[in-house]
Amino acid sequence: MTTKQYDYLIVGAGLFGAVFAHEATQRGKKCLVIDRRKHIGGNTYCENVEGINVHAYGAHIFHTNDKAIWDYVNSFVEFNRYTNSPVANYQDELYNLPFNMNTFYQLWKVKTPAEAHAKIQDQIANLNIKNPQNLEEQAISLVGTDIYYKLIKGYTEKQWGRKATELPAFIIKRLPVRFTFDNNYFNDRYQGIPMGGYNKLSEGLLKGSEVRLNVDYFEDWAELDALATQTVYTGQIDEYFDFKAGHLEYRSLRFENQLLDTPNYQGNAVVNYTEAEVPYTRIIEHKHFEFGTQEKTVITHEYSQEWTPGTEPYYPVNDDKNDQVFRQYRHMSEQMPHVLFGGRLAEYRYYDMHQVVGSALAKVKKHFGE
Ligand code: FAD
Ligand code: UDP
Repeated sequence: MTTKQYDYLIVGAGLFGAVFAHEATQRGKKCLVIDRRKHIGGNTYCENVEGINVHAYGAHIFHTNDKAIWDYVNSFVEFNRYTNSPVANYQDELYNLPFNMNTFYQLWKVKTPAEAHAKIQDQIANLNIKNPQNLEEQAISLVGTDIYYKLIKGYTEKQWGRKATELPAFIIKRLPVRFTFDNNYFNDRYQGIPMGGYNKLSEGLLKGSEVRLNVDYFEDWAELDALATQTVYTGQIDEYFDFKAGHLEYRSLRFENQLLDTPNYQGNAVVNYTEAEVPYTRIIEHKHFEFGTQEKTVITHEYSQEWTPGTEPYYPVNDDKNDQVFRQYRHMSEQMPHVLFGGRLAEYRYYDMHQVVGSALAKVKKHFGE
């Protein structure tokens, strides 16, 4: 029997790969983590510009209801008290998000929950939507037509490049609808940003593992696999199987960063532009995630675009057609017990960070028979 140099080859230094690497290292295993990018952290990676942590792959706010997951990430880096409260700009009018009493007041001047309920009821009564079949029906049945046309339709169709009637309802259920004056975008008990940036989290998780960057698994997979007893794969699942069952669709993004000579550009970390005519979906001002007091600021215009090979696959498109293709890949992966598949791309799921951490910890436990 030959002994391998590593117990695990982990493809992808994002959150899933890093949590797996940390847990395996804790159990006395040797890990080699590779990433085709030039940095660790996957989509949570931050670039330091003039002392500001710029979220290089889009704004990331950690939130969870699970105390164990919150304590776990805080054991690597302390999180601050940032609370996400995006503002929506529709035709130069500002509205608070998520949809709450502030939004209802701004739209209709209603001051009580009863008035707000009545206004929404008025708008949906004649539509007779019993069992919402798509995002449009789901959204209208939750918040009525005014909010749907001003704050949802344009943003959603820009974001996904598809009609809201062709999108799954679950996407809009991510957003809370509240009849209180509460602009917190999340319902979760715990929320924040790592103090000093997300890289501290991934650096902490990867301590003790060997990391090789700018290494694409597919350029040398046989040789890389041969280095370790087992492979953990966190890249695109369709790519792993050489697109045998067809291409899965993703949504991609384009970011335009600007360094501005002003301390405060928009007064908030996230401003969404919800009308279809504005080409970008949101402007992020990164310093506000960490209450930055730098003299300058960095803003990012975020544009959504169709994914084509060579661009980053940011969001899985979990509609029926793609989920059907994914099931074929999942079936193929189940025939390969020597490879562990995990994370947003390998599981083709619209996972948030806490869900990725939770899923990695659960898979670790199962894998080590605990
Ligand atoms: P990734 O971070 O994508 O890591 C996978 C890694 O694998 C990548 O670094 C990739 O380069 C590497 N890789 C892939 N293929 C190969 C290969 N062949 N060879 C070598 N390396 C490879 N979550 C939240 O909780 N809150 C938020 O506010 C939030 N905002 C988000 C905003 C945007 C724009 C996006 C896209 C996501 C957001 N998320 C948010 C989700 C969050 O990014 C993910 O849940 C999490 O980062 C997924 O971790 P992962 O390890 O599964 O994947
Ligand atoms: N959404 C919207 N208007 C907004 C913000 C969000 O219609 O101002 C919808 C849109 O369909 C989006 C979904 O809600 O895809 C989920 O929003 P979230 O902010 O959770 O998206 P993410 O942070 O994953 O980009």
